[in-house]
Amino acid sequence: MERIGILTSGGDAPGMNACIRAAVRAALANNLEIFGIRRGYAGLIRGEMEPLDRRSVANIIHQGGTILGTARSPEFMTSEGRATAIENLEKRGIEGLILIGGDGTFRGGTVLSQECGVSIIGVPGTIDNDVYGTDYTIGFDTAVNCALEAIDRIRDTALSHERLFFVEVMGRHTGFIALESGVAGGAEELLIPEVPMNVDELCSHLERSFKGEKKSAIVVVTEAEQPGDSFRIAQEVKAKSGFDSRVCILGHIQRGGSPTARDRVLAGKLGIAAVQALLAGKSGYMVGEVNWRVAYTPLQYTWEKEKELNVELVEMRKLLCE
Ligand code: ADP
Repeated sequence: MERIGILTSGGDAPGMNACIRAAVRAALANNLEIFGIRRGYAGLIRGEMEPLDRRSVANIIHQGGTILGTARSPEFMTSEGRATAIENLEKRGIEGLILIGGDGTFRGGTVLSQECGVSIIGVPGTIDNDVYGTDYTIGFDTAVNCALEAIDRIRDTALSHERLFFVEVMGRHTGFIALESGVAGGAEELLIPEVPMNVDELCSHLERSFKGEKKSAIVVVTEAEQPGDSFRIAQEVKAKSGFDSRVCILGHIQRGGSPTARDRVLAGKLGIAAVQALLAGKSGYMVGEVNWRVAYTPLQYTWEKEKELNVELVEMRKLLCE
């Protein structure tokens, strides 16, 4: 193998740059040429790629987002679109491709690896942590810490005004961000898809809390299909229990910012592991971290199998925070 490519795709996540940097430097150290492909699969279809050197990834380790850009590409969902992408890879003599992204990116990568002779290795990069085959995804820790900082700030005002707050965090159908930030922030309640709770139950929990010493509370909510569902929940709680509340939707703030040390270290480790996997002749796998060790999971499993929430954390929050 002499030449490989790298792209970032789907939702951006802090630490993607640290991963690009690691992969580029690991590739160069192994005498591989490495091309940076712009705007994910969209750029692959348009042939937007250029060689990267050591300097082109200097001073990006601390930057959120992705220097390669990212996109969602409906065209890549079609066989015509993918055929053009494969033509571009072949034209450039690219023999291995590193995909940094989430489960959508890996769905695309699974199909691509079946349709072309290029070796494909995925690296999990998404704030949602909803990828099977890795304990954590790159960007998750930064997003959790961002949500935590917001919860801490809101607790100040909640305490001062003796108020109930709903804090809506991202998560795309999964409660990973809500659970971890909720435990760390001492949230009184948690509304996550994995542990369904109706408004009646929520109201009776809150009524129980407010009967005691409690004068304020924070409920962390995972955003539903559309951000803003917390407003509806807050209105229903008001109608049923009379609790006045405020809603704070964190939204895309959670996507940006300088990656935490944990995310940078993970990004470095997995960027290097991706290059090593290509050199070892692997294809159609995602490199992840399980129990601190690099683990290889078939790309198909990463989106087909469901990653479970840490049940111990769910119980721990109940014991400590309610
Ligand atoms: P993420 O990787 O963050 O989950 P998306 O779900 O938006 O992001 O997926 C990124 C891109 O992957 C999509 O825009 C599309 O080009 C490609 N993709 C997703 N699902 C498929 C699929 N089933 N077949 C082919 N390509 C797909």
